[in-house]
Parts: sequence; structure tokens; C-alpha cells
Amino acid sequence: MNIKLRKCENMKSYTKILEFNTKNKIEFIRITEMVEEAIKESKIKEGLVLVNPMHITAAVIVNDNESGLINDFKRVLEKLVPYNDKYEHNTYEDNAAAHIWRQLMSHQVVMAITNGKLHLGPWEQIFYAEFDGQRRKKVLIKIIGE
Ligand code: ZN
Repeated sequence: MNIKLRKCENMKSYTKILEFNTKNKIEFIRITEMVEEAIKESKIKEGLVLVNPMHITAAVIVNDNESGLINDFKRVLEKLVPYNDKYEHNTYEDNAAAHIWRQLMSHQVVMAITNGKLHLGPWEQIFYAEFDGQRRKKVLIKIIGE
């Protein structure tokens, strides 16, 4: 095991908000490069990056960039929580399933920054998972470290 203890004397923070339009109601957008770009801009070499979907019907997940897997996620979510089923929330809106899917797929992620780079596992990619799209969306990137 490789353990290093470092004293933080020059703690910095950097905040960036990504904005984009989602074309489809349900969509997985790979945002790894956008997060890497924010880390580069922050000039933070050692720290953590939090990636938060600023919407209650979306999630940020880390997984493999493989289209079959993305389709599997959609199929399993639809099986567990059918999109067009009856929900109490849908008295006022039509997106109850999107809220529940977001809870099932996690909410936000925190990743490590080492030597100024996003410290991913060999197949890890960051996705913004949209479940009620076709409108303008925001993702918060918060970086802390030194
Ligand atoms: Zn709603």
C-alpha cells in the first residue's frame, strides 16, 4: 500500500459551472474532459473534485464508456421504475420516475486529483446522466486542494 501524509498549507478552491442543452429526455453525456479542463484551470495539484448535477432529475456517475452498458442502465431503470407508471408526484408534473432514477443512480461524485490530473481508474469515465432533459442544464464542479 502506498500512503503519503502531506501537510496542506496553501489550500485553494476553484468553482466552475458547466452549461449545456440536453437533446433527449434521457441522455448520458460524458463529461470527463470538461472536468479535466476545470482541474487544469484551477492549477490545483493535489486535492478533490466534486461534480454535482444541479438538477433533481439528473445524476453524475462514474462508469465505463460503453454504449451497451449505457443501454443496460436505461433498460434496468425502466424495469425497476417504469417511466410512464402512475406516481403521486405526477399530479403536478410528469417526471416522478426521473427523480427516482436519479436516486437509484447516485447523486454526485467526488474524485481524486493527483499531480494536477484527474486520478481515474483505467476504465473510469464521468457521465452526466439526464433523466428529464431537452432543456438547459448545469453541472457544478468544485475543486479543493493545493
Ligand atoms: Zn418533479
